[in-house]
Formats: sequence, structure tokens, C-alpha cells
Amino acid sequence: MSASAWETVLARLDAAAELGGIDPDIQRFLRSPRRVLEVSVPVKMDDGRIEVFTGWRVHHDTTRGPGKGGIRFHPSVDVDEVKALAAMMTFKTAILDLPFGGAKGGVRCDPAKLSLGELERLTRRYTYEISPLLGPERDVPAPDINTDGRVMAWLMDTLSMTQREFLPGSVTGKPLSVGGTRGHSGATSAGVLVCARAAFRELGLSLAGRRAVIQGFGKVGGPLAFLLHSAGMRVVAVADVGGAVVNGGGLDPFALSDHVAATGSVAGFPGGDELAADSIWDIESDLLVPAALGGVIDELVAKRVQTKVIVEAANGPTTAEAQEVLDERGIVVVPDILANAGGVTASYFEWAQSRQGYPWDEGIVAERLRAQMEAAFVDVWARAQVLGTDLRTGAFVLALERIAEAIEARGLFP
Ligand code: NAD
Repeated sequence: MSASAWETVLARLDAAAELGGIDPDIQRFLRSPRRVLEVSVPVKMDDGRIEVFTGWRVHHDTTRGPGKGGIRFHPSVDVDEVKALAAMMTFKTAILDLPFGGAKGGVRCDPAKLSLGELERLTRRYTYEISPLLGPERDVPAPDINTDGRVMAWLMDTLSMTQREFLPGSVTGKPLSVGGTRGHSGATSAGVLVCARAAFRELGLSLAGRRAVIQGFGKVGGPLAFLLHSAGMRVVAVADVGGAVVNGGGLDPFALSDHVAATGSVAGFPGGDELAADSIWDIESDLLVPAALGGVIDELVAKRVQTKVIVEAANGPTTAEAQEVLDERGIVVVPDILANAGGVTASYFEWAQSRQGYPWDEGIVAERLRAQMEAAFVDVWARAQVLGTDLRTGAFVLALERIAEAIEARGLFP
């Protein structure tokens, strides 16, 4: 049987703790989540029946600040997955040096089969059931798979109504009309660009004139194509679920975006040649950005790719075996836990603005995002250099050191 998501996180934690010389007491402390809440979520369906769903909210660690992490609605979500994702948030917020811990939530349901009314009732009842854990100073949820700004607004409204106070700082990823932040939607792509630029700089290269390949043209891959193009790169190939397109001279992201809006896929784009989706791994590039699914760069793909730098916009695109191959081949991999952290960084800014009651200009959000991502990249790069490891390992060790320092400073209650 393959290791569960939680076992995989523990293995990574143990390896990083050993490499970083982390106090075994602290390692034990982090090997179990602080609290796991399982709730029943009864929902009156449109046909009058009551359906009972199961949901969870997990705080992996809250030493460095309130729990932070998304809520996903998915038929396959289970407590093991939620625990693993919560722990990854602890590490991610530490790498970005955000004043948060790590949390995650989920409800096992298929939102595609729910009406809008059912979705709202499910969201509100789930929020009510997990509300003892929530609040601006306790735990601040955000959107994840199958949840969005609308769901976050219902969540905030439910908490605000039951607690009889306006609580915009209780959730991030909200619509602008109820205290969301400017610059949230493109934040993940902007963070990927910062990491790509920084990695190229460390290799003595500039982005201008270099070739990029992107897998995925969705919420992350789409805006990223524009950003890389604006940075002077040639986006030579893009793949999505419908197919792929290649143009050695560079694809026009504006025309490509129009084509995707009209047809639903990059396939058939007249500004390039059609390519089998799997063949993008063979296209020569300087930067490769997986921005679609997990597990796509396996050992075989790792041997095929012709690139210098991989920046992981997607979560978990590279398998452990593939990472070894890429290390041997000298291909730099900026890991997901750093590379796609622009979203949670923008969430931090949203939380800060909500608590201040003072919205920031788009330019301020963009500049602070750039600075925060840049600082995290520099710290991770330096840690990996000193340890003589890849960036992923360096990132985990850095996170553990920051969390350990906070645990030691606070001491153990009581
Ligand atoms: P999305 O659903 O908006 O877009 C996904 C893209 O991947 C689409 O273009 C889709 O066609 C493509 N795709 C799906 N299956 C494919 C396949 N088999 N081959 C090639 N392309 C395929 O999703 P998104 O929000 O852009 O997220 C992409 C990845 O980034 C995910 O792994 C997600 O977990 C991660 N991520 C997203 C954010 C965010 O802010 N949206 C933040 C952190 C991480």
C-alpha cells in the first residue's frame, strides 16, 4: 500500500528535522496536529430530504499565529488529506515568514451535484459547526478546490451574524465588496514570476529573450503567460486539458487568451502549431512551469525535459523519484511550497487590511508581494546552498527552524 498523504508529510518532516538538527522534542510536537475537528453537516436538500455530509477543520500548528489554510469541497476529501494539507500550510506560512500557523478544512461532497441553495446551506452549517475554531485571531480560512469568493462571503456572513459583529478578518479570498484585497486573483502567478526571475538571476541569466513552456492555462497558467511575455520571455509552448500548441518564435498571450475564451482550450490556436499535450515535455526551454495537476513530472518525464529551471506553480507536480533525476541533471526546481505561495501571501495582506480597516492600493499590494516572495526565495536559496541540498529540502529545513524558534520562545503551556 502506498504511503498516505499524512505519512508522506511525516516522512518529509522527519528528514528535514534530522538534516536541520531540530530538537527531537519539537519534532515530536509537530508530528501530531494541535486539533482535529470532525463535524456532521446536515443540509436540507431542494427535494425536502436531509442529507448529512462530513466535514473537518484541522489546526496543525498555531505557534506563529492564527491557523491559515483553505477549505475544499470534494467527494474524496478525508481527514488524512486535511491533516497533511494543514501541515503543509504550517511550513508554507513559515517559509514566507507570514505570522500564521497552518490549518485546512474540507467537506466530503460533490459540489457539481448541489444547487446554489444547497451549496449555501452546506457552507453555512459547516461554518457554524467549525466556528469554535474560527476567528481573525484563531484561524482564517481561504478558498481551495471548489470553493471561491462567494463561499468565503457566506462563511464570513455566518460568523458575523452568529457573533453579532462584522468579522472581515475571519476569512480571505473574499469579494472586494466585503473587504477583499486588490491583486488577489493574479497573486499566485505574480509569485511564480518572482521565483523564476530570482532563480534565473542566481544562474546568471536574465528572463528577456528566454523560452518558457507552461502546462495549464487556467487561473494560474493564464495570467502567468502574460507576465512572462511582459518580462520579455518567449512563451513557446502551452498545454491544457484539450491539447497543446507550440511556436518557437513565441505565442501571443493576448490572442491565445481570446482563443481559449472562445473555444475552451489552447488546442487549435491558429498562432502556433498543434502538439500532443504530452509532447510539451520534449520542447526545449529555459523555464518550465507546471501549472495544472500534481504528479505530472515523474521519473520518465524528468529524463525527457529540456530546460534549465522548473518553477512549480501546481501543487506536487514533481514526484520524489523525478526530483532525484532533476537534481542529477542539474535542473533547478523551485518547489511548490515556495513557488505558489503568492496566493497565501496576498491572503495575509487581505487579513492585515481587514484588521486595519484600510484597503491598500493595488501598487502597494503588488510591491509588498514581490518583496515578500523575493525575501523567501533568497532565504530558501541560501539555506539550500549551506546544506548542499535541493531547494525543496532547503525550504523545509528553513520552515522547521522558524517554527522551532517560535515554539522555543513561547515555551510549553502550562
Ligand atoms: P484551473 O482549474 O484554473 O486551471 C487548470 C489548468 O490545467 C487548465 O488550463 C486545465 O485545462 C489544465 N489541465 C487540466 N488537466 C490537464 C492535463 N491533463 N494536461 C494539461 N493540462 C491540464 O486551476 P488553477 O487554479 O490554475 O491551479 C493550477 C494548479 O496550481 C493546481 O495544482 C493548483 O493546486 C495550484 N495552485 C493554484 C493556486 C491559485 O491561486 N489558483 C494557488 C496555489 C496553487
